[in-house]
This record gives sequence, structure tokens and C-alpha cells, in this order.
Amino acid sequence: MTSPASATVLVFLDPEFDNGRMADASKPQLMATDQGATRGDGVFESLLAVGGRPRKLQAHLNRLAGSARLLELDIPAADAWGRAIETAISEYRNGQLASGGTEADEVVVKLLVTRGVEGASSPTCWVQASPPPAAGRRQRETGIDVILLDRGYDSEIGERAPWLLLGAKTLSYAVNMAALRYAHKHGADDVIFTSADGQVLEGPTSTVLLAHLETSEDGAGRVRTVRRLITPQLDSGILPGTSQGALFTAAKAAGWELGYGPLEPKDLLDADAVWLISSIRLLAPVNHIDGQEIGTPELRRQLTAELNALFATVE
Ligand code: PLP
Repeated sequence: MTSPASATVLVFLDPEFDNGRMADASKPQLMATDQGATRGDGVFESLLAVGGRPRKLQAHLNRLAGSARLLELDIPAADAWGRAIETAISEYRNGQLASGGTEADEVVVKLLVTRGVEGASSPTCWVQASPPPAAGRRQRETGIDVILLDRGYDSEIGERAPWLLLGAKTLSYAVNMAALRYAHKHGADDVIFTSADGQVLEGPTSTVLLAHLETSEDGAGRVRTVRRLITPQLDSGILPGTSQGALFTAAKAAGWELGYGPLEPKDLLDADAVWLISSIRLLAPVNHIDGQEIGTPELRRQLTAELNALFATVE
């Protein structure tokens, strides 16, 4: 097997190369004056390719275009991204086979856009293909312990202060990474941010989901269980998750009822199960929040298996 660094494939979007221009990930490729490096000024997407096929491709391309619009970045059209993504995935998989590995089942594909070098008028755009982190795969199985952290904004700031770019997936993730390091130092795996006005927002790299089961009797002795899947409302200054969106569509078709916040921390603690969901780690069941167990191990396992089966149908 190759190491993750040497396995990484880079494909730059370049008008002179229809399918993207390959570049060596072990060599410097960006100018030191690129505003992605000097200001964290840019946008990105992370998606998972399974069996060589990028999942939820259109949803990721739509969100990338939306993020770019919010930052007033003029990026290449979706078909140019699609060709560069195909090049990156197939080169990555060929590289794995050539170095004696097995065919890569899961590949992490990142789409990156910076405002470009200082003084230039066009953004720098590239696709990166690399192996999925082992921790994420493990956490899908074992679940995670989470702490609640105050993000310091109220839930209406997104509308009041659009320059904060809260609905965009920007390259400025230093705060999100700092929150994760804080959680790790305090013995937790991950974070759920809350707003200054006490609402549940999102994880630093994930969307929050919770499930409630309600069992009722119809009077004729028939017991009916209503399964409800709930996420914080999308206009509370959070990133709209492509995984949450796709899972909600699949769950609705399977008879789940859907709900959107506002949610408070006590709603999480009272839930039958809570997950952090994202494109690479997928559904990570939450075992504890601030030390309090969520639901029961059996219920978490059962509901996670059910939602995993639904999410597996997402293309
Ligand atoms: N919220 C934030 C802040 C994220 O960074 C991410 C993904 O990285 C998500 C939610 C989940 O989005 P998706 O399901 O599209 O991966």
C-alpha cells in the first residue's frame, strides 16, 4: 500500500486541458501569493466516490456554485468540474492498483477554489483525490462522544450579516478545526455548536440529525410507530448538508416523518438517537452529549442500521 500523501492525486482545472491538468501532489503547486493561502479566501467541497462513482455529484456542484456566488467568485462550469473529477478518481484508482493495493472502494474527492494569486483576475481551481481517514470509518461503527460549544452568534445573524458567509462552504475552517481540537483535549470526539440564543446549529464538519419514535395504539389493538427525523432549520446560519438533504428524501420515501428545528440542547438529550452526518464519515451515531447517554445502545444500533440502509440507496 502507498502512504496517503503519495497516493494523493491533484488535477487542476485549466482551459488548455479538457479533462484537467494532472499535477504532482508531492511538489509545490500553488503560488505563495495565492489568496487561498494568504487569506483563506475561497470555497471548497468534499465528496465521497464509492466504487469509482462520485456520490451526490450534482448536489455538491450546486453547493459549490452557490458558495462561489456568495463570495463573488467566477468559477468554471459544472461540466469542467465533472471531467476533472473523473480524471482524479480514475488516476487515484489506477495508482492504487499499480502500487499493489486493492481497488479503492472509497475515495475522498475535494473540489477547491481560491481567489487566485494577488493581482490576478481568475480563481485557482483544482480537484484532489485521496484516501478516506481511518478514524471516520471507525466512528461510523463505534459512534462518537460530543460536547456542545457556543459558536457565539445568534441564530438570525446569517440574514442580518451576510458578509459572514455562514451559508457558504468557505476555506476559512480554522475556527471549525480549533473547536475539534478543543473537543479532543476535553476527551470528546466531536462538537455540536449552539447559537448565542440557545439553538442547536451544526457540527464543525457535519449536520445534526435526531430521531424520535412515537408508538400509539389505534383503539383496535393495532400499534403504530411513527418515525420522525429532525434537523435544525436551514436558515439558522448553518451550511445546508447534501447528506442530510439526500437522507431526508430517502427517509420520506420510506415512510419517515421529517421535521426542521428550531432545536434546543434538551431536544438532543431527549431524542431516541442523534447523529452527525456528512459526506465522508456518513452517519456517526452520537453515544453521549456532554457526558449524557443518548437513547440506548440497542436503539442507536437499530436506527443507525435502518438509516444506513436508506443512505446506501443514495446515488
Ligand atoms: N456542516 C458543515 C459546517 C460542514 O463542513 C459539512 C461538511 O463538511 C456539513 C455540514 C455536512 O455537509 P455534507 O453532508 O454536504 O458533507
